Amino acid sequence: MTTLLNGKELSEELKQKMKIEVDELKEKGLTPHLTVILVGDNPASKSYVRGKEKACAVTGISSNLIELPDDTTEEELLSIIEEQNNDDSVHGILVQLPLPDQMDEQKIIHAISPAKDVDGFHPINVGKMMTGEDTFIPCTPYGILTMLQSKDISLEGKHAVIIGRSNIVGKPIGLLLLQENATVTYTHSRTKNLQEITKQADILIVAMGRAHAINADYIKKDAVVIDVGINRKDDGKLTGDVDFESAKEKASFITPVPRGVGPMTITMLLKNTIKAAKGLNHVER
Ligand code: NAD
Repeated sequence: MTTLLNGKELSEELKQKMKIEVDELKEKGLTPHLTVILVGDNPASKSYVRGKEKACAVTGISSNLIELPDDTTEEELLSIIEEQNNDDSVHGILVQLPLPDQMDEQKIIHAISPAKDVDGFHPINVGKMMTGEDTFIPCTPYGILTMLQSKDISLEGKHAVIIGRSNIVGKPIGLLLLQENATVTYTHSRTKNLQEITKQADILIVAMGRAHAINADYIKKDAVVIDVGINRKDDGKLTGDVDFESAKEKASFITPVPRGVGPMTITMLLKNTIKAAKGLNHVER
């Protein structure tokens, strides 16, 4: 019997709770504020940014979008980030990735104040997460952990296999699961015998960016399967890295795409923005 991990439903519940918290903060004169910076007109980025603004509005978090043309220079973007860093009414800053080729993404991430880095990508925050200190946890891994915890899925001593080693998903989710006492194996595009390894997983996290690459043959009976992938099909609809119909026959818990990890990612951004507004990740620059 497979249980669906419905990220959409959980997100709605969490947003209701956050709205109450935001209302309380507002009564005390503090309105959490997120600045989103979008460079260029990548359609997927535009759609993500719209989703983030909408979610802010639902919870009462104020937000503003700074839209910049594709040919913006790195210096121009750095100076806008500096303004936002110095604006006390701004609590969170998010620069939507990917950036155009003329920009060095790492340099831009470094420029965001760690105290406002609600994506959790700044090396100071990454380092704090690595050592288990309280910090902004990157939104997608944070969302995955929250989903697992919401169903009381035990992690201790479990074998978690991660497919993908990106800085925004694969690496950090492995660290978080390690902190929860799972035994973690990372796999990636150069891994040999992937199927042999994934079939040992009690918890399988799939973040490859390859539509339906993982089917039931890769899954141990009763494993928990988390599909992070977002791939656009020819008909424009979204689909995951996991072949859901086949995988659900083996998995004990499974996330769908859409309505799985995606909505949780945005919800955790709101959570990090509230945390920033409360000054809970204060870091001297
Ligand atoms: P990425 O391209 O940076 O990394 C992909 C990873 O998959 C790499 O580490 C690579 O080694 C690994 N990989 C590729 N082919 C493989 C193979 N054949 N076998 C084993 N490993 C393989 O991607 P990313 O940014 O980590 O994103 C992964 C997917 O998750 C994408 O579809 C992306 O759109 C999606 N995503 C979703 C959310 C969300 O909120 N749901 C957030 C971020 C990313």
